[in-house]
Parts: sequence; C-alpha cells; structure tokens
Amino acid sequence: MTASKPGRIAVVGSNMVDLVTYITRMPAPGETIEAPDFEIGCGGKGANQAVAAAKLGSAVSMVTKVGDDIFGENTRRNLAQHGIDIRHVETVAGKSSGVAPIFVEASGENSILIVKGANAALLPADVDAAEETLRAADLILMQMEVPRETVIHTVRRAAEWGVRTILNPAPAAADLNVDDLRDLSFLVPNESELALISGLPTGSEDEIAAAARSLIERGIGTVIVTLGGRGARLVTRAGVVPIAPVRVTPVDTTGAGDAFIGAFAHFLAATGEVEGALAQAARYAAHSVTGRGTQKSYATPEAFEAFCR
Ligand code: ADP
Repeated sequence: MTASKPGRIAVVGSNMVDLVTYITRMPAPGETIEAPDFEIGCGGKGANQAVAAAKLGSAVSMVTKVGDDIFGENTRRNLAQHGIDIRHVETVAGKSSGVAPIFVEASGENSILIVKGANAALLPADVDAAEETLRAADLILMQMEVPRETVIHTVRRAAEWGVRTILNPAPAAADLNVDDLRDLSFLVPNESELALISGLPTGSEDEIAAAARSLIERGIGTVIVTLGGRGARLVTRAGVVPIAPVRVTPVDTTGAGDAFIGAFAHFLAATGEVEGALAQAARYAAHSVTGRGTQKSYATPEAFEAFCR
C-alpha cells in the first residue's frame, strides 16, 4: 500500500437503516404470513462511503440528519463506533429516520422500499452551519439521497473554499442539470447513471467515453465511470484511462460502488494521486464483493493488506 498520511474527508449525505426481512414469498394484499428471518443493517450511500473511508484510516466527519427514533440512535452509534465525527449528525424532531425495508426471497431476489425520512430535511443551511468542518476537509463527498439543492449548494460553497468535491450521482435523475455542477471536481457514476445524466447511450467503450466527455465539456473536472466486474474508466480532457478490475468470485455485490468511492476518497486525500487511488479503490471494492452485507464487508487496513498480497 502507498505510504501516506491519512486525509480529512467530509461526507454530506444520507444514512439509512436497512430492515432486511428474509421471506419465502411476498404476501398478497390483505394476507399475513410468517417470514423465516430478519436482520437490521446500517446503510445509506453517505454512511456507507463514510464508513469505508474511516475503516481505511481517514479522519471522517459526517453531515447528515436522523429521526428522533431508535434507528437514529442506532445510526449515531454505528458512525461513532467507526471513529466518524458525528458533531454534524442532527436529530429532526417528529420525523422518522431514513429506513429501507428490504425483502429478500429464497432465490436471492430483492424488493426494496426507501423511506428518506430525516435525509429529506438536510438543507443548504445545514451545509453552511458545518462550514468550519467542511472547509478543513481535503475532500467533500456527496451522493443524491439528500435534496438536490443541498448537493448543488455544497458544490458551489466548496469551490469558493477551494475544497475538492466528489459526487456519486446515485440515485440518478434524468432532470439533473449538469450546468448546476460546473464546479464539481469528480463525478463518479456507474454506466446507467452516466446514460441518464448525459442523455447519451453508454453501450460501448466509445459511447461511454463520449458521454463522459460531454459532461466534462459542461464544466465537470473529471468523470470516473464504474463498470462493475469490468472495472472503471477515468475520463479527463486528456483522454480515457482504464482502471482494471480485480478478479474475484463475487458473493454479494451490494455496496461495491460505495466501497469504491469511499476508498477512492481515502487514497486520493492521502496521496493526491488520482490513478493510484483508483487502482486501490478497485482492489478495495473487489474485496468487498467477496463478503456478505454492505458496511460489514468493507475491509480494515489489515484485511485489505492481506487481500492485496
Ligand atoms: P454500483 O454498485 O454503484 O453500480 P459498480 O457495480 O460499477 O457500482 O461497482 C463499483 C466498482 O466495484 C467497480 O468499478 C469495480 O471496481 C468493483 N466491482 C464491482 N463488482 C465487481 C466484481 N464482480 N468483481 C470485481 N470488482 C467489482
């Protein structure tokens, strides 16, 4: 692993509690049936990325909102247990926390509901309130599970402060105006998010490059396209650099994108070197797909080093 000094990363984003029910089948409307098992997990793209970077050793602060319920307490405790600074984790009175009831059938098929809850109350004013922490960060990391205006505001303020930004545009929306993200340093979509945001096809290598370039022409610094088991592509004005996948036998690919982005932020903040950070991110994400779950499949530095050997 590259010798480096851990960086400071701030995440402006979501947290969710996954309520995973293992079922034999979905009940019909009006029907009550028994389900064999249930599990609670900590998730949300913002929290997942924060945990990945923190597990690797970055100093991470999270700006997020939870509801005044047991799930909010659970999220706070989970972030704190990973050493994440929770000064800017605010509780919203009278709101539920963000939760994701997930139903997993014996075949492995997932049906997921997302209740944004308190995440919908994370507003531009909350970003301003966290200015001191955000300004001190080497990088600010965002996703789209909080209001769009908050993301746009963060990108603009960070540019004023001279802090680099990474946006994972997930979940993507076709009506996102790329011109609002003009000051963004790094956009990290997967293939389908890139297609939706650019309005262009992404079915081939040439199409992926053209779609990414169209965003760079509209003012985004660098586009990093993740392609699952096919690795990733770093697209800049200078051209396309392929980031090779690390071959593994996947067990559970949920949260691979979040592992990739959290690790990219960690290594970029620590070394300042984009291509090297992406190669490490591809290794870290590959390791995460070899284990079950999301945050719990993210490696500690020791486990990651052993995997890289
Ligand atoms: P998302 O989950 O956001 O759709 P991807 O599926 O593109 O993101 O995965 C993110 C990154 O994780 C990929 O660029 C790759 O580096 C790594 N990855 C994902 N799936 C695999 C896999 N099956 N084998 C190896 N690496 C993988």
